Amino acid sequence: MKQLTVEELSVNYGRYTVLRDISFTIEKGDFVGIVGPNGSGKTTLIKTILGLHPAAGGSITLSEGIRLGYLPQLNARRDRTFPASVYEIVALGLLGDKKFPKHISRKDKALIRSTLAEMEIENLKHRRIGDLSGGQQQRVLLARSLVSRPDILILDEPTSALDPSIRDSYFQLLAELNRQGMTILFVTHDIASIGSLVNKVMYLDRELIFFGDYEVFAHSDKMTAYFGHVHEHVDCEVDCD
Ligand code: ADP
Repeated sequence: MKQLTVEELSVNYGRYTVLRDISFTIEKGDFVGIVGPNGSGKTTLIKTILGLHPAAGGSITLSEGIRLGYLPQLNARRDRTFPASVYEIVALGLLGDKKFPKHISRKDKALIRSTLAEMEIENLKHRRIGDLSGGQQQRVLLARSLVSRPDILILDEPTSALDPSIRDSYFQLLAELNRQGMTILFVTHDIASIGSLVNKVMYLDRELIFFGDYEVFAHSDKMTAYFGHVHEHVDCEVDCD
């Protein structure tokens, strides 16, 4: 089932065209790794899909009733000093949908409780986010983006690598959400590390260089010609076990 359709999208900053002629379709249950060099327009694409930046041309269509959730990069300094409890931070994830005056209903409270339980952070609900470990903070922020029950979750992977064990359990969590039917768009700097999770890859370089199955991406001659050594890296993830 089609959830998101992007057609001939172009995006500008002033007179400077960052993205041109981007077209793709996201289906329910897709787990898409979005990759490309620094400055290739990955964040810009996400911001435009979220409506935070206008399109200069083309269209972005969400199928009826489809809701987006967004997990921005963890800003370690800001998030660590933010003076709020885990419960309050997760509750913030519901406020975007509300009109003023904002009010947390009984139904909202039930949603917050069940999300805390799913993320296994119920026991932390009165703690300040700044007092938690990096892995726990990541779960809290993920809970905040999940509490509104989005159909498509968009994530920007932290550039400063998470501890490998935290990263692993974080990826397992995403895999589980995906198995339960959530569509995931994941911006990453390291496609090889999530090769076993994603079913599709989007390779951006101001244009859409590749969009399709991960297996095709990993074995494509076009991709080898385009960026040889990265291709080999990915290929090894697929074949060298
Ligand atoms: P990526 O996420 O792939 O690193 P970005 O989408 O952040 O790429 O940036 C794409 C290009 O747009 C870069 O050249 C960047 O310098 C430029 N850019 C990003 N944000 C702005 C902005 N607010 N104003 C002007 N140029 C920007």
